[in-house]
Amino acid sequence: MAGNWSKQFSAYPLVTKSPVCPSTVVCVGDIAIGDGDFVVMAGPCSVESERQLLSTAEAVALGGARILRGGAFKPRSSPYAFQGMGLDGLKILAKARELTGLAIVTEILSEADVDLVAEYADIMQVGSRNMENVALLERVGRCGRPVLLKRGMVATLEDLLSAAECIAANGNTDIILCERGIRTFGTATRNTFDITAVPVLKAASRLPVIVDPSHACGVRSLVPMLARAGVVVGADGMIVEVHPDPDHALSDGDQSLTIAQFGDMMRDLDGYIQLVSQAALSCTSQSGGCA
Ligand code: PEP
Ligand code: MN
Repeated sequence: MAGNWSKQFSAYPLVTKSPVCPSTVVCVGDIAIGDGDFVVMAGPCSVESERQLLSTAEAVALGGARILRGGAFKPRSSPYAFQGMGLDGLKILAKARELTGLAIVTEILSEADVDLVAEYADIMQVGSRNMENVALLERVGRCGRPVLLKRGMVATLEDLLSAAECIAANGNTDIILCERGIRTFGTATRNTFDITAVPVLKAASRLPVIVDPSHACGVRSLVPMLARAGVVVGADGMIVEVHPDPDHALSDGDQSLTIAQFGDMMRDLDGYIQLVSQAALSCTSQSGGCA
């Protein structure tokens, strides 16, 4: 298969490019994802307390994030690990939105919670462990909110597009794809960042594509470098974990940036973002953005 993606992925007509619909922009309030801006979603892996979330939200907003991430329902590998604050976590996320103006992305684990999470979230995150949960995909296809669909850790790009098609076939084409690293034989990092996925998905799919440098490597010091790579290969944004005290985080502390590191990373990314957008200007037509 040498780059003939339109043929390879032709079974997914609602999410692949067509001459009539080469690309879609997902609007979240006045934030346009897939319209040329590099949109940053940042925050802790899990909502742990009001103080933790609000201090992170204020800091990431100041640093240039537009969307706050934070898990209220957590998919943990161990049943004994912190499972999230549930409804209390959703309420804290809503308070952070009110105070900072950031939009909210949070994970949905179960069909039974879709209506509840949709009441609080601006974007519904379907995580890697649920990428092939057809019942959940069908249900978020009818939830009336944009969906952030993360690639499963052993999923091919075709599997990812098939999952996206399942959401779209249920009426929801506001889907953002996310490359978050896959399992390989490598053991030095948590996952292997499949950087090639970004240009392939951008070429084959009409949907915006973002990267998750945090889960892609699992190592705090590598995150800014992978974020840079995401910008340079043309991602529409990223989702990144930030914590005021990562060494005491209840989940994913090893890969969470401190607030200062987030600020440094955002300043570093600026130059790369400018370069990429200048290069893109010559070959893109301008669209109208979001209301
Ligand atoms: C997360 O975003 O915290 C998460 C659990 O991500 P993933 O589904 O990519 O593992
Ligand atoms: Mn996490």
